[in-house]
Amino acid sequence: MRGRSLLLIKPDAVERNLTGQIILRFESARFKVLAMKMVRLTYEEARRFYAVHEGRPFLEELCSFMSSGPIVAMVLESDGDTVSKVRSLIGSTDPSKAAPGTIRHDFALSVTKNSVHASDSEESAKTEIAFFFS
Ligand code: UDP
Ligand code: MG
Repeated sequence: MRGRSLLLIKPDAVERNLTGQIILRFESARFKVLAMKMVRLTYEEARRFYAVHEGRPFLEELCSFMSSGPIVAMVLESDGDTVSKVRSLIGSTDPSKAAPGTIRHDFALSVTKNSVHASDSEESAKTEIAFFFS
């Protein structure tokens, strides 16, 4: 089985010229980049993307950050459980708790500015891929 995940490179990482290094990590781990584009979300679009977090105290700060500059959206594919494999490469949400060698450990600035987003289930992967790619 080949599974898919949405990956976003967040504004903090695009701004610090980390796009190439982040893509390299996935290509080196034998993921296929099936689709990719650079976009800038409006605040409203970020709210729609993060609708599952409606009501959470960090939502406004998160959506302001996510609409503060360009992001890179891509669809990753690999053999097996792509969602879990991508999540292990990115590491914990809080970079101070992320394992050494993970993207968030190595690049993230804070819990909010944590460099990447990845889908957390097969279900959310479908919805999130459809949000960015028709
Ligand atoms: N976030 C935040 N403060 C928090 C929790 C989350 O700013 O206390 C941000 C962070 O950028 C995170 C995103 O909200 O990546 C989505 O949160 P989630 O719990 O889904 O983490 P993820 O799935 O990205 O690891
Ligand atoms: Mg999440």
